[in-house]
Amino acid sequence: MTASVSEKCGSCGRPSSARMRHCSTCGWSNEQKQRCCLKCEGPVVLNNGMNSAAGGGGGLLGAVMAWFFGLALSLTLLFGVAFALTLAGVFTMGFKCNMCGWTAADNLLSKQEKEEKGGKRFKMILGSAACGVLAVACFAWWAWAMKSRLNGS
Ligand SMILES: [Zn+2]
Ligand SMILES: [Zn+2]
Repeated sequence: MTASVSEKCGSCGRPSSARMRHCSTCGWSNEQKQRCCLKCEGPVVLNNGMNSAAGGGGGLLGAVMAWFFGLALSLTLLFGVAFALTLAGVFTMGFKCNMCGWTAADNLLSKQEKEEKGGKRFKMILGSAACGVLAVACFAWWAWAMKSRLNGS
């Protein structure tokens, strides 16, 4: 028995050699206290499954739409899109490699990481539900505005 195998992986508990920079099974690096991609050794971080640039683009598009369609209808569309994006994010989120997009399977994650992922997923489901409710509310507002406009003329 050599000294190099006395170390254990901090995530999956398998014996890991000090010579290796990260665990060959789950990618956890004891030294850096973070998970590495098994493919390219890039940092694996909790990803919400959405592109943050999409949010900024959506905001800009919303401003243009509000000018064209009026506030109520464009808010309906925006919340509808946000609802779809967050819902898609709930299914695609997870611990992913920043460099190549490799996703760490659930059985590779440590207990803390699973809890972190579960907590974030729960928040996203709440956010998605809130966007859905707001989309319906704005649609009702728009329908009401159209109706009163028709009645008025
Ligand atoms: Zn491991
Ligand atoms: Zn990678």
